[in-house]
Amino acid sequence: MNYNYRYRLRPSDALEERLAWTVDTCRQVYNHFLHRLNRTDQTSAYSEQKLLPSLKKWWDDLKSVHSKVLQKVVQRLYDSLSTLRGHKENGYRVGTLKWKAPGEYRSFTYSQSGFELKNTSGRTRLCLSKLGEIPLTFHRDLPDDAEIKTVTVKQEPTGKWYAILGVETPDDPPEKPENPEKCVGIDVGILKYAHDTDGTAVESLDLSDERERLERAQRDLSRKEHGSSNWKKQRRVVAERHADLKRKRRDFLHKLSNYYAREYDLVAVEDLDAKGLVELPGNSRNRAGAAWGRFLRMLEYKCEREGTHFVAVNPRGTTKECAACGVSTDKPLWVREHSCPACGFETDRDANAARNILSRGIKKRLGGGRSESTSSESRCDSDVRTRAALSSTPVETTLPADTPVSAKRVVETGSPTLKREGVSPSGRVG
Ligand SMILES: [Zn+2]
Repeated sequence: MNYNYRYRLRPSDALEERLAWTVDTCRQVYNHFLHRLNRTDQTSAYSEQKLLPSLKKWWDDLKSVHSKVLQKVVQRLYDSLSTLRGHKENGYRVGTLKWKAPGEYRSFTYSQSGFELKNTSGRTRLCLSKLGEIPLTFHRDLPDDAEIKTVTVKQEPTGKWYAILGVETPDDPPEKPENPEKCVGIDVGILKYAHDTDGTAVESLDLSDERERLERAQRDLSRKEHGSSNWKKQRRVVAERHADLKRKRRDFLHKLSNYYAREYDLVAVEDLDAKGLVELPGNSRNRAGAAWGRFLRMLEYKCEREGTHFVAVNPRGTTKECAACGVSTDKPLWVREHSCPACGFETDRDANAARNILSRGIKKRLGGGRSESTSSESRCDSDVRTRAALSSTPVETTLPADTPVSAKRVVETGSPTLKREGVSPSGRVG
């Protein structure tokens, strides 16, 4: 499996200058090939990469950049292009690839060769061909059998440099249980962050302090003379505050997704692409969409790693449908309770949705290409479970569903450091 590990680089002033120079040269190469792309027919990453050696004949700076790094720049351009095409095919309105100004291009990547991680007498250094040895804070060990495939060097807007090591481990992900026992459906909501079928409601992370600090820094920046050295200093402060927010948000999502992937055999969520998010106004729609998308992607790869089924279901009508009898009732966004006119089932709006998501998830997994014998066997199994889940009446579900858990508490129970001990992927099932 593939993972990314991120480490802080501590380059000397001279090296830092070299790194910045390399980033800028790569940016110019990117712009060069973008220009060609817009004016030449029938180009491809492969055909353009073959032009690099002849480019070096007149573009002297390129001789000081490792050839794999330059190839990756071309690759990056064509990767962006195919991402853009993909969006277009999915019906999104897309623009064109933009020329990169200084400051909009922040990283370069070595792949396959040109790098080495050296560890001598307790000090770790990253050796990069054509650049030199950069001290690195090795705060976290790589898995023993990991092989480093790529190294990306990046400068964040805060001015700090990082190395992102793309590693590959040979071990196959653990087998997913044939008959998942611990199943959960998660409804990702607006007021609460997530609501699951086990009655856990996780509140959104409270980042109001961090936001306030960011706003204060931005106000200070606006009072500085544009372009002055105080302004430049303050701009870094603003970037630091942004980074704080981003780090805390990611940390929360990592821990939350980790919790579900480790605790359960099957996790059912709504397929975000199909969920129109239509109930939300513009800006919050974008923000919520981005956060949910990130959460689901994290959850998906962590489930893969832990041997947990991950099922994304069609979200159509999950809030309207009654989890007990299946009758649909219209429900505006501000109605927070589900109260079924047909069968009298009452629960929290999100708890009801989560239960619909789970039953759809269990059905979908059974439908997905498995051998006759096992699927019919487990079909009975899961159908019983689905029915049991559906018929477990109001009395049982309403109580826990309405007890919100603070983000902090779930973060603690889901924390890998607390959970690690005694919870091996195989031991978890039983
Ligand atoms: Zn009902």
